[in-house]
Amino acid sequence: MLLLPILQNAAPEPTVLLLGAHSDDIEIGCGGTVLRLVESWPRARFHWVVFSADEDREVEARSSAAGFLENASNTTVEVLRFRESYFPSVHDQLKDEFERLKGRVDPDLVFTHRLDDRHQDHRTISELTHNTYRDHFVLEYEIPKFDGDLGRTPVYVPLDSAQMDTKVNLLMENFASQRDRSWFDPDTFRGLARIRGVECNAPGRFAEGFHGRTVVMGFADDVD
Ligand SMILES: [Zn+2]
Repeated sequence: MLLLPILQNAAPEPTVLLLGAHSDDIEIGCGGTVLRLVESWPRARFHWVVFSADEDREVEARSSAAGFLENASNTTVEVLRFRESYFPSVHDQLKDEFERLKGRVDPDLVFTHRLDDRHQDHRTISELTHNTYRDHFVLEYEIPKFDGDLGRTPVYVPLDSAQMDTKVNLLMENFASQRDRSWFDPDTFRGLARIRGVECNAPGRFAEGFHGRTVVMGFADDVD
């Protein structure tokens, strides 16, 4: 298990930065992992940023984030107004936003989109994450989609049935606007998590998969 030794060396109350282009991305990509992190570090700082949402979807995003972070005591949720599907054309403004974010948050662990994601908004957020947080532990989550861009992931976070149920229930409860999309259903979320669970032999059957670009193995005497 890759995550445990690295996080054990983090500060007692790590700062976790969660970045998502759209209102439901963080939950789909790493919602189960967030639930596990909150369970392990209820006093960790969770900084959650959604870059694009209109007023209705902001309500959904905030309600969902509150659900996933219900048992966390130190949380910040930001919902921004960048125009969906046009992220590459507002790269400069997004870059400025990341520079401001860098001044506010120095994370121990960052969750972002995959660099190889076929959605242009997702890809832009991933590029800017890697440009901004160069000396940080960044994990890229995956989003199932029509383009079929998923491969095998090298990093896994196992989930048990209860964690999987909570993730799916929160997604279905909070994102009413997405329910008419053919892919937005419990089978999609459970199916992908079950496959990732098979790949890492997860005891609880389910898992979330992540990509990591630069992973540095830490030792106790590396810490100042
Ligand atoms: Zn998205």
